[in-house]
Amino acid sequence: MEPASIRELGILVIGGGIAGLTAAIEAAEAGNDVFIVEREPSLGGRVAQLHRYFPKLCPPYCGLEINYRRVRSGHRHFKVFTQAEVQQVTGQPGNYEVTVLLRPRYVKLDNCTTCNACVPVCPVERPDSYNYGMTTTKAIYLPHEMAFPMKHVIDEATCLGESCAKCVEACNYDAIDLHMQPRTITLKVGAIVLATGWKPYDANNLEILGFGKHRNIISNVMMDRLAAVNGPTKGEIVRLSDGQPAKRVAFVQCAGSRDVNHLPYCSAICCLATLKQSLYVRERYPDSEVYIFYIDIRPGSFEDFHARVRADERVHFVKGKVAKVMADPETEEVIVEADDMLSGRKVQVRVDLFVLATGMKPNAAESKVAGLNIEYDEYGFAIEDPQQGIYVAGVAKRPTDVATSTRDGTAAALKAIQTMVRK
Ligand SMILES: Cc1cc2nc3c(=O)[nH]c(=O)nc-3n(C[C@H](O)[C@H](O)[C@H](O)COP(=O)(O)OP(=O)(O)OC[C@H]3O[C@@H](n4cnc5c(N)ncnc54)[C@H](O)[C@@H]3O)c2cc1C
Repeated sequence: MEPASIRELGILVIGGGIAGLTAAIEAAEAGNDVFIVEREPSLGGRVAQLHRYFPKLCPPYCGLEINYRRVRSGHRHFKVFTQAEVQQVTGQPGNYEVTVLLRPRYVKLDNCTTCNACVPVCPVERPDSYNYGMTTTKAIYLPHEMAFPMKHVIDEATCLGESCAKCVEACNYDAIDLHMQPRTITLKVGAIVLATGWKPYDANNLEILGFGKHRNIISNVMMDRLAAVNGPTKGEIVRLSDGQPAKRVAFVQCAGSRDVNHLPYCSAICCLATLKQSLYVRERYPDSEVYIFYIDIRPGSFEDFHARVRADERVHFVKGKVAKVMADPETEEVIVEADDMLSGRKVQVRVDLFVLATGMKPNAAESKVAGLNIEYDEYGFAIEDPQQGIYVAGVAKRPTDVATSTRDGTAAALKAIQTMVRK
C-alpha cells in the first residue's frame, strides 16, 4: 500500500487564507502531510470577501474553488482544523511539537447536510462579520456561500444554548450538539508556515474622515462587499442610508495610512483597490462620476490598469488631502472638501458614497503564538527566520496582493520541505 506521506513528520500551516492554502497545497502535492490550523470556521481568508480581483477583475471564487478542489483531491495528505488556534510550540527545527486548541463548532461536520432547516427557527440575530456588519446572521449560520467546510456553525457568544435549542429540534440529521467542548490536540511537525494575514485598519479611528457619523461613509472592504452579488445588497451599489443608487462616489486614499498617528506604512494595495472599485461604480452606472482624492497613486507594476482608469473622463483624480467631510441631512449626500494641489483651488464635491481606502494591519504580532521563535518588525509583520524552520507567507510578512501572497505560499512550501529533508 502507498504510504500517506513520504516523510515522518508533517508541515504546519497557520492561517488558511490564500497564502496559507497555497503553501499547504504545494507541500501536500509534493507528498508531505500538512496540517492547516485556521482560526475562523471557514478557510479562504479575506479573499473570500472580495468581489473581484485586480487587475483582471475575475471573481476570487474561481481561485478559491480550484484550491478547495486540490485540498479535497489530496485529502490523504491534509488535515484541516477550523476554529483552531496554536497555543504552544516546543522543540526545534525539524522536530516541533505543537499544541492546538479546537473550539467547538456545536455542529457535527459528518452529520450536517447544510439543509439550513436550523436557521429560520433560530431567534437570535448577530452582526455578520463576513459583510463587515452591514447585515446580520442567525446565531447558527453558514459562514458564507463558498465556505470550506460547507457546514453550519454556532456563534457561542450569542447562542441562547439549551434554554432555546430550537435548532436541535429542527435538525433531522442529529447534527447539532450544544454540549460540544473545546479540546486540545498535539501535532508533530518538522516545519511551520505562518500565514495569518491581516485585518482592515479600524476606520472608527478616522474621525476626521467621518466614519461612523453617517451611513454613507464606508470603508474600502465594505465597498467590495457592497459590489458583491452575495453581499448585503446583492451587488447593488447603493447608499446605505436609503438604498438609492450611489452614482456619485468619492474615494480618499491613504485613509490612516502613511500617518504616524495611525498606520505609518503604505499598505501597497489600497490604490489598486480604489482603481478597481471605481470600475465597479463606472460599470454599474454608465452615468456615474467618481472622485479619487490622493497624495500619490502607487499602482506598482500595474501601470496599465492605472492608465485604463485614468482614461475614463468620468473618474476625476484630485491630488490633495481631504480637509473636511460633512453630511447633508436633507439629501443624505456626503460633502467632501479638499485643496487641489495641482490647480491651487479648493474642491468641494457632493457624493452618495464616500469610501475610505484604509490599509491592512497584520494579525501576526497580535496573535503571537507561545513558543514560536520568531521576531516581528515595528509594525507587527513577522520576520522569517530560516534557521528556525519557520517561514512566513502573504500579508503576515508585509502588505501585498494576492499574486504575491500565492508566490510566497509556494516559496514557503519549498523552504518547509527543504527543512524536513535537511533535518
Ligand atoms: C479593500 C481591499 C481590496 C483588495 N483587493 C484585492 C484585489 O482585488 N486583488 C489582489 O490581488 N489583492 C487584493 N487585496 C489584498 C488581498 O486581500 C490580500 O493580498 C490577501 O488577503 C492576502 O492573503 P493572506 O492569506 O496573506 O491573508 P488573509 O486573507 O488575511 O488570510 C489569513 C488567514 O489566517 C487566519 N488567521 C489569522 N490569525 C490566525 C491565527 N492566529 N491562527 C489561525 N489562523 C489565523 C485568518 O482567519 C485568515 O483566514 C485587497 C485588500 C483590500 C484591503
